[in-house]
Amino acid sequence: MYVYKKAKLNIIQGDITKMEVDAVVNAANNTLLGGGGVDGAIHRAGGPTILEQCKKIGGCPTGEARITTAGNMPSKYVIHTVGPVYKDGRKGETKLLYNAYYNSMKLAKEYNLKTIAFPAISTGVYNYPKLEAGQIATKAVMDFIDKEDYIEEVNFVLFSEDNYLLYKKILDEKLNELE
Ligand code: ADP
Repeated sequence: MYVYKKAKLNIIQGDITKMEVDAVVNAANNTLLGGGGVDGAIHRAGGPTILEQCKKIGGCPTGEARITTAGNMPSKYVIHTVGPVYKDGRKGETKLLYNAYYNSMKLAKEYNLKTIAFPAISTGVYNYPKLEAGQIATKAVMDFIDKEDYIEEVNFVLFSEDNYLLYKKILDEKLNELE
C-alpha cells in the first residue's frame, strides 16, 4: 500500500470485476455498448442492467466519463470512460488518457464515492505503451488528489504480472511503500 496525502493507493494484480469498491472504472469505447477486454468482463460479470443504462446514456466522447450502477458485481457503480486509441503519440493521446482518469475521479467525487478501482485504460486493444500509460494514470490521480483533496482509496488493478510490476516500479519512484 502507498499513501499519497490522505489517500491510499493500492496496486493489485487480478480481475477488476471482483473488486469491492464504490466504483469500478471501465475502459469502454465511444458507443458504451460493450466490447472485449475489461469492458466485456464487466458486462458479463455485472449482467444486462449495465447495458440497459448505457443504451440510455447514448455514448461517451474520448476522455470523458459516464456512470451506471454495477449490476451483479460487488461494487456499487461502474464509471465508464473512454481512453484514446494509440496511433503515434502525436494525436493528443497523452491528454486524452489523462482526461479519462481525471474525469473518472471527478465523477466519483460528484457521487460521493470514496473507493475506486482503475484498469490500465487503453493498454489492451487500444495499444497504448504500458509504461507511458502507467505514468499518465498515476499522475492524473495524484493531480486530482492535489487539486480536489478528495478520495479515500484508489486501486490500480492490473491483469498481467508485467503491468503489475511496472506500476509498482512507477509508484516506488514517486512514493514510499508502506507495510
Ligand atoms: P482498451 O480498449 O482501453 O485498450 P482493453 O480492455 O483491451 O481496453 O484493455 C485494457 C487493459 O485491461 C489491458 O491491460 C488488459 O490486460 C486489462 N484487462 C482485461 N480484462 C481485465 C479484467 N477483467 N480486469 C482488469 N484488467 C483487465
